[in-house]
Amino acid sequence: MTRPAVRPSHLPRLSRRAVLASALATPLLGPARAQGRVRVAVVGGGWGGLSAARHILKAIDGAEVTLIEPNRAFFSCPLSIHYIVGDRRAESLTFPFDGLIREGVRHVAERAQAIDRAARVVVTETQRIPYDFLVLSPGIEYMEEAIPGFAEAKGAIPVGFRAFEQEAVRRALEAHPGGDIVLSVPPVPYRCPIAPYERAALIAQWMDRRGMPGKVILLDLNPAIPIGGPTIQAAFRELYPTRLEHHLGVKITRVDAHAKRIETDKGVLAYGTASLIPPMRAGSIIRQAGLGERWANVTFPNFLSAADDRIYVIGDAVGSTLPKSGHLAYETGVHVADHIADRVAGRTGQDGDGLPSAICFAFFTSEEAMGVKIESRWNDLTREIERRAEIDPRKNRNAAQAAREWSESIWAELVG
Ligand SMILES: Cc1cc2nc3c(=O)[nH]c(=O)nc-3n(C[C@H](O)[C@H](O)[C@H](O)COP(=O)(O)OP(=O)(O)OC[C@H]3O[C@@H](n4cnc5c(N)ncnc54)[C@H](O)[C@@H]3O)c2cc1C
Repeated sequence: MTRPAVRPSHLPRLSRRAVLASALATPLLGPARAQGRVRVAVVGGGWGGLSAARHILKAIDGAEVTLIEPNRAFFSCPLSIHYIVGDRRAESLTFPFDGLIREGVRHVAERAQAIDRAARVVVTETQRIPYDFLVLSPGIEYMEEAIPGFAEAKGAIPVGFRAFEQEAVRRALEAHPGGDIVLSVPPVPYRCPIAPYERAALIAQWMDRRGMPGKVILLDLNPAIPIGGPTIQAAFRELYPTRLEHHLGVKITRVDAHAKRIETDKGVLAYGTASLIPPMRAGSIIRQAGLGERWANVTFPNFLSAADDRIYVIGDAVGSTLPKSGHLAYETGVHVADHIADRVAGRTGQDGDGLPSAICFAFFTSEEAMGVKIESRWNDLTREIERRAEIDPRKNRNAAQAAREWSESIWAELVG
């Protein structure tokens, strides 16, 4: 399996995992198609989809790879907080698909509206795209209905946890009229478990730098911080003892953007600016295609849909205890590219037990961050994912440097 040289240097290297790509249990492709041009469609041009598209092209001679993604460029959510608080330009996080297209990926700049599984066709507004294999990496959508009033208020309280939405959050912050800034943490599972805490810290720093009165109030629906709690709480205490309030176990019951009020099960808050993150679920194409309800059902360790052996689902849309991380989505793209290549070549073997690893960073100031690495394996006996986490015990400058290096390397891996 190809791997990017992106391990943060300050954390110990992960042990080498045997991610075997061959699959005895998985139906092989017939010889006619194996000798011809195999058609692979990829839905979603984010972390998982770009990785899969690029690696399938490398792994299978003559593969016809079609990427279906409405955007014409990739925008990185990792490091996007620095853009929101005005420390980075959007261009430094935005990468057009030109290199990928030059390498031979066909880009259809439309949404996949439906998947005709019987005919093996992806349907867009103007095209029907046939496939031998389909990789879905549609990411997440917000369960707006979980917060009464959210749908009506969303223009005024942008979320910014999907690519390109960050501009609205930055504009909301720039227009902050004074008063408190209310942020929230959705219930697990959600995209990048440490990211909402990073957002709270850097917005607190943003207020500090401007000498603004008011606080950042972080309403957390979870009973405890999902991962890295001691590091996060120590950083909050040390850096923002009076600026940042973090409340665990608070459920938002209504938001009213006109009155600028948030009702919770613990009381009512007035705010100057708010950015709330609703609970999340897989992109709607997963439900449309009958591949899962809230999240996609897949089999491990190969990420094949439990409902269809020609469809792989990767990235944040997968229902599992694996962290929803771009790094993990990237590695899973490599993993399924190898799996498809082996099926096309008619190679047989046993699936290994290795699963892709996750690497996430959270900044607490522009110069200090924490890193989290989670390596996982599939236990075929218990049918469970076993996880081992390595977490920075305190914020540090090396992690900030590692985050910048990791991002640069992995963006190059994704878009060249
Ligand atoms: C603030 C923040 C910080 C983060 N930090 C880290 C970090 O430090 N490390 C890390 O590893 N991860 C981090 N992440 C998480 C990372 O961004 C996600 O895990 C990653 O984006 C998941 O990749 P994906 O391919 O599943 O989804 P995405 O990258 O969201 O890609 C999904 C794509 O699918 C497209 N799409 C959806 N539906 C359709 C359809 N029907 N047809 C066509 N296209 C469709 C969308 O337009 C989108 O481009 C962070 C996230 C946030 C928000």
